[in-house]
Amino acid sequence: MLLEDMDAINETEIRLRAEHKNVGFCYYTTIQKVIDTIVGTGSYEYLRDRVVDLEDVRAAVLAKLAGDERSGLEGLDEFSIVVAHTLTPSDTARMQASKVVGFVTDRGGPTSHAAILARSLDIPAVVGCQGASVSIAPGETVVINGYSGEIYVEPDDLLKAQIVAWQQQLARRIQRLREISLLPAQTRDGRRISLELNLELEDEIKRTSKTATDGVGLFRTEFLFLSREDWPGEDEQYAVYRELAESFGGRPVTIRTMDIGGDKLCARLHVTREMNPFLGWRAIRISLAQPDVFRVQLRAILRASAHGNVRLMFPMVTSLDELDDALEILDEAKRELASQGTPHNHTMPVGVMIETPSAVMIADALAKKVAFFSIGTNDLVQYTLAVDRDNQRVAKLFDMYHPAVLRLVHNTIKSGHNARIPVSVCGEMAHEPLAVLLLVGLGIDGLSMALSGIPEIRRIIRRTTLLEAKEVARAALVGVTGTEVRRTLESALLAVGSEIGTDR
Ligand code: PEP
Ligand code: MG
Repeated sequence: MLLEDMDAINETEIRLRAEHKNVGFCYYTTIQKVIDTIVGTGSYEYLRDRVVDLEDVRAAVLAKLAGDERSGLEGLDEFSIVVAHTLTPSDTARMQASKVVGFVTDRGGPTSHAAILARSLDIPAVVGCQGASVSIAPGETVVINGYSGEIYVEPDDLLKAQIVAWQQQLARRIQRLREISLLPAQTRDGRRISLELNLELEDEIKRTSKTATDGVGLFRTEFLFLSREDWPGEDEQYAVYRELAESFGGRPVTIRTMDIGGDKLCARLHVTREMNPFLGWRAIRISLAQPDVFRVQLRAILRASAHGNVRLMFPMVTSLDELDDALEILDEAKRELASQGTPHNHTMPVGVMIETPSAVMIADALAKKVAFFSIGTNDLVQYTLAVDRDNQRVAKLFDMYHPAVLRLVHNTIKSGHNARIPVSVCGEMAHEPLAVLLLVGLGIDGLSMALSGIPEIRRIIRRTTLLEAKEVARAALVGVTGTEVRRTLESALLAVGSEIGTDR
């Protein structure tokens, strides 16, 4: 709010024009005037924290103006847990290279992109914990349980011993799951489900184990643009996509065109904070509005398609027009490459994400033009239930088991299968042990998730039959509230046994 304060911005600008001093000096002086006013009043004691806030923000602005891009994660000690008001997806992406072993935020929900990245990086995280950044002091010993969302501050010896025992138990369960990691995700009566990976970061391509997956169901390319300062051109993007395609040796690799916007801001593309960011300038809307940037990405993906089993996917489609426009630019890119004699797969499969209720309602028409559907449940839940996925105040209402969501998922699968195209889920619902039997029973063909989720999902699939899963889905579809649906799924999961808890 301080950064966006129009009085401060206007006064800085006026000083800049009148005094011809540099912008840092003008901003410094503007904020100093406010600080002096506060210090000069009798309520300084009461307002001391506001002065600290002002100084903090001013220091960050001046550092940024001076070209200092440090995130504050650099100088941390080994085994640090970051407790912050909020973390952007790019802050989280930087954690990998730092000493951070976990984080807690006041803001956000379990499908915020900071939380999604934490899952990919296998970093325990608790989000949407209002007041944590104020009530936990720097240097305190903190233990977090990313499964249950619990935080322990300054645990006593007894609690520490319990936590260590729990960690050991968890490690044994994970080890048991690893033992079946090379077996197919197939039900006892032979229904094979494709288990694929969600990847976000470029260096995950090298780091991630590829043996236990059927391919990549979602590569979120926007992180190539967000987590770095320079701008990747066609050749550089091509190199990343090619490495991805080659490293999965013939298995499908699904590359999603950039989904910037929402909680993923990008000054380079003029994507700044909006009043309703998730309803605003986001994903395919930005790509279609900036066809030159879009074309570069499409050309890079097409070129990579000559080196593996590459599939292309468009995010946040809401109408057939958007799909047609995107396909037209793709065709142009193909023609350009063909005329230059540049190798690419002319018949590269193209799919759409089904993540808006409107896409579900016109899924029959979309299905005629694409080779596959991938359901983005994170957005489908947010847009269906009118619940901002990034707002902890409404996080309790973010219910992927809401009957409306179930019916939309069911309808999408039916529309896809009527048109004989496969349908998978790549939202966080795919990572939920509680949702597996339901999704398999509804007829899902594939589930795509962070690597950490795959072993448990595989185990559940291997312990059931398609017949049983269909029965579970039928019972769940009868539920008229999320609670009823959850209850049905909980007793079904109990019957097959769950090794790892569901993320809350
Ligand atoms: C989704 O919305 O479910 C999805 C997979 O896309 P993202 O989380 O990147 O919006
Ligand atoms: Mg989405």
